[in-house]
Amino acid sequence: MNQLRAAAARGLRRSSGRAAPPAGRSRQGASPRGAPAPPPACHLFSDPAEIQALRGNLLAWYDKCKRDLPWRTLAATEPDADRRAYAVWVSEIMLQQTQVATVIDYYNRWMQKWPTLQALAQASLEVSVAGAGSSPCPCGSSSNTRLCLLEQEVNELWAGLGYYSRGKRLQEAARKVVSELAGRMPRTAEDLQKLLPGVGRYTAGAIASISYGQATGVVDGNVIRVLCRLRCIGADSSSPAVIDRLWDMANALVDQSRPGDFNQALMELGATVCVPKAPLCGECPVKQHCQAQRRKLFGKPAPVPDVEDCDVGGCPLCPPATEPWDSSLGVTNFPRKAAKKQPRAARTATCVLERRGCHGAPEYLIVQRPSSGLLAGLWEFPSLPLAEGLQEEKQKEALADHLQAWTGWPVAAKGLQFIGEVIHIFSHIHQTYVVYSLPLDGDVTLDPALSPSRWVTEEEFHASAVSTAMKKVL
Ligand code: SF4
Repeated sequence: MNQLRAAAARGLRRSSGRAAPPAGRSRQGASPRGAPAPPPACHLFSDPAEIQALRGNLLAWYDKCKRDLPWRTLAATEPDADRRAYAVWVSEIMLQQTQVATVIDYYNRWMQKWPTLQALAQASLEVSVAGAGSSPCPCGSSSNTRLCLLEQEVNELWAGLGYYSRGKRLQEAARKVVSELAGRMPRTAEDLQKLLPGVGRYTAGAIASISYGQATGVVDGNVIRVLCRLRCIGADSSSPAVIDRLWDMANALVDQSRPGDFNQALMELGATVCVPKAPLCGECPVKQHCQAQRRKLFGKPAPVPDVEDCDVGGCPLCPPATEPWDSSLGVTNFPRKAAKKQPRAARTATCVLERRGCHGAPEYLIVQRPSSGLLAGLWEFPSLPLAEGLQEEKQKEALADHLQAWTGWPVAAKGLQFIGEVIHIFSHIHQTYVVYSLPLDGDVTLDPALSPSRWVTEEEFHASAVSTAMKKVL
């Protein structure tokens, strides 16, 4: 409530009248002393009664319409706070970048296999112990049988969710809780973020509010959309200035007695009603609080008592003057993002090395990528980024040298057979893989000092943590 009052006080500090900023403040978003200026009141929730009404309407709708999801059931019924926090944590990690409908099955399988932090940490420890100093796996990996099997198990459980590093980080963090925090999950959003690897501000807020009832807000993509529409925020919603304001707003709005439900309700609203392209405003439980809806219906946002409208140039939260309100878009004028940079073009030579396995079936050599950067820790065919404008013959020579370093065998460029090109679009890279193949006779011993590598059958290849791009290559 203090935050709410402070927000209200900040908003009402401005005098009535239209364009002129209050004495001592510019409209450029900073006070003369350099502190960020409070946003114009029309972009805030300034009225405590309105906040109360919005909370009540949203929670009543959530109680009636919320989806039945396994992590919600666990969060509501599990009496042990650590188990509850773990259940929410796993769901939040899986839901990053992945749709709810896809996650449900993965979540159920994961929780069946590793129902507690201790179970997950133990699995990771077994992998580490098994990986130290035991005999090499017959698959040809520099790893060993048990490590391969356990890794495969994790990969199989995670396969299809993408972003494999999330599963790995979850395991690392579970291990840390068990070994360094005596198995007790940190009890506040601040400590969760500070102490657990891979837990950012959003995940920490979600775990703390849903599992422990801490009155802290959350801001994810759905919340950004809903809040920007509720308060006609049309400045770049990915900019730090706007994101900071949205966190302030989420923290001021969150219901003090049901913070977990309130946060989930706001996200649920964004996922099911206030959707990106065709929001169902007629069914929206908070439409009476929505400035975007009001603007669509009446041509302007609701006036804020005693405060001027801010719909003039220079407001840090309004749409830029060059991209004003477009009435054909209605509420979907909000949110807005700065135009994305064009993905940069990159070319990579990749080689499918093939040998006959024990039973005559083909096997392929895959190597593991570094543990940080693009596709961190995933497996791929030996690959080499190509310099821009490199001639085809030079490409082959560079790739042959690279393969020679891997296999320790002389590899002649003319032995590489060009197969074709595969294009894969990452969010920021337009990647072309120039694909070659190299069939091998006899066995090849790989230098264990190099990055991990192993021979896999086609089936094993698909069960391994390989990227979609590599599946296309195969
Ligand atoms: Fe979103 Fe429409 Fe509801 Fe506003 S009224 S919050 S735009 S669904």
